[in-house]
Amino acid sequence: MPEWLRWLVGLNLLLASFLWIGEPVVIETGLPPGITGVSFLNFILVEDLADTGTLNHEYVHYWQQAILTPIGSGLIYLPGAAYSLAVDGNIWSSNPMELLAFALAPYDLGFEPRIVWRW
Ligand SMILES: [Zn+2]
Repeated sequence: MPEWLRWLVGLNLLLASFLWIGEPVVIETGLPPGITGVSFLNFILVEDLADTGTLNHEYVHYWQQAILTPIGSGLIYLPGAAYSLAVDGNIWSSNPMELLAFALAPYDLGFEPRIVWRW
């Protein structure tokens, strides 16, 4: 196996381990128009901390990255986004990764952010 690939796999698994061992750092901040939340690695960005639907949605994305690993979830998310864009003209409404996050967001996922930054 090429050394660069070993590094890539190792770094991917290391980042996934931070998701499993750590917890989300929620940052309440302004986001571009039309976007209410973003999840990337251990960071969840939301416009409004009181918006539990968005918090839960991004928390699902957090666990998608933990379970599938960051690179694995990206490799699934991007084709899903491309498919949704081709079918619906947006990256969300037919993207399986988004559909799962939208489906679970209304439920009580037991997510109570303990680390919150306001920016
Ligand atoms: Zn989403």
